Amino acid sequence: MMTAEQYRQSLDDGRETYFEGQQILDVANHSILGITVDSAAKGYDRFYKKEKDAIGDFMKVPGSAAELREQVELHETVDLLTHVTYASIMTLLTAADRIDSQLPENAKRIRQYVDEVQKKDLRITQCITDAKGDRSRRAGNQDDPDAYVHVVERRDDGVVIRGAKLHISAASMGHELMTIPTKSMKKGEEDYAIACMVPVNAPGVKIINTTYAPRHEDKRDFPVSGSQHTPEGFVIFDNVFVPNERVFLDGVPELATIFAHSLGLWERLGGLSGMAAGYDRLVGFAQLIAEANGLERVGHVKEKISEMMINATLIRASLEAAIENCSVTADGAAFPNELYTNVGKYHGAANYSLMVRHLHDIAGGSVLTAPGIADLENEETGHLIRKYMSTMQSVDGTYRTRLFHAIRDTTADALGGWSAVTNIQAGGGLYAQRIVSRMYYDLDNAKKMALEHAHMQEYIAD
Ligand SMILES: Cc1cc2nc3c(=O)[nH]c(=O)nc-3n(C[C@H](O)[C@H](O)[C@H](O)COP(=O)(O)OP(=O)(O)OC[C@H]3O[C@@H](n4cnc5c(N)ncnc54)[C@H](O)[C@@H]3O)c2cc1C
Repeated sequence: MMTAEQYRQSLDDGRETYFEGQQILDVANHSILGITVDSAAKGYDRFYKKEKDAIGDFMKVPGSAAELREQVELHETVDLLTHVTYASIMTLLTAADRIDSQLPENAKRIRQYVDEVQKKDLRITQCITDAKGDRSRRAGNQDDPDAYVHVVERRDDGVVIRGAKLHISAASMGHELMTIPTKSMKKGEEDYAIACMVPVNAPGVKIINTTYAPRHEDKRDFPVSGSQHTPEGFVIFDNVFVPNERVFLDGVPELATIFAHSLGLWERLGGLSGMAAGYDRLVGFAQLIAEANGLERVGHVKEKISEMMINATLIRASLEAAIENCSVTADGAAFPNELYTNVGKYHGAANYSLMVRHLHDIAGGSVLTAPGIADLENEETGHLIRKYMSTMQSVDGTYRTRLFHAIRDTTADALGGWSAVTNIQAGGGLYAQRIVSRMYYDLDNAKKMALEHAHMQEYIAD
């Protein structure tokens, strides 16, 4: 396995990555991107084992509901790059399982790759979302054929791909780009049915980073995002060669959707578990600020917090149901339940703005206007800020000011905006979760129950 230092050095591999108009030659030591590298490096330290062929505990494939629960709990405490690596590995194994009967050689190739990547202790990011061009048209029917990543040349030893994948979390910090079709492909779209692994430093790969990282001098006003943030990469594949052993699907459109659906499952499980923790934290902030404002016993405040608690509990319950009702494949890998995962993720994403609305409603305007930590330290202003930010003897002005900073940083500033959009879009938009929920919901049983309830058994289809 790699140590944190070896990981940092591994990023010096000629990768072509950009930020705010400049090429970044030393990602690990960059003033902003380097902070994400530091978080990922801590992940390397945490899971490091000396033994040959050991693999990180976070990479282990769960074999039962109990092991799946352990992994979910573990992943609530890891950085995003470590988490997406696990979700990628699980995606690949899920896809291998699902294509095995039609393409056993490809399934074998995937499993061999996973084995190798686990042993080399590499980090994988997920390249699914294409540029997509005109959304109303299919991949094969765009004005620009590169709107979806596709094969532009087939050689004996591999393929050449071109296109772009957008919004790829931590793309510049990982080693491997798991590049898979974003949606179903049909006959005539064979070149778009391409799933493969591309090293970040492969010639022709260019990554442009964007980030919600705070740019202020004093990071103490950003207690959450100041020390932990992850950029998204706009990943361009400009005629990139991929050798055959790294190609998992090529030219079989009817299987293209398997990869996106496999990823969707793990991505949404990750999203759901993140939301379960995030929702509880929002309830916590609402209660803490209500107490600090002296309003925790007021009816409308209690009502709002009760509604927040109910939503938080429903999210936890669907996470629990997704784990408990997992299915275990012939290979012994446990997959979370699709219906509960998607329904929970949908409910969490759809109600996130309500949770934040209640929190902001309860908290008051200081969410945006509380003076900074440096103002608290200023001899002229500090004691006055503490005096007026205090609400009663038991509520210290510094404490209440810091609570407001945490609420603003989490919900009302760059990270807050990022969370609002990400909850809805990451893992596919709300629509995607509705489609999958509908696919797995037992509609026939619901119809049968309705007919039985109406004493119309004779109309129940066999
Ligand atoms: C912070 C962040 C991190 C992300 N991380 C990753 C990542 O690591 N890897 C990755 O691959 N992706 C990632 N994504 C991308 C995410 O999965 C997409 O944003 C999401 O799938 C929506 O795609 P889009 O942004 O192209 O929006 P669009 O596809 O343009 O969707 C916008 C709206 O149009 C609707 N729509 C689109 N096409 C149609 C159609 N044909 N018919 C009807 N309605 C339609 C959608 O349902 C949606 O409501 C991330 C996104 C964000 C915001």
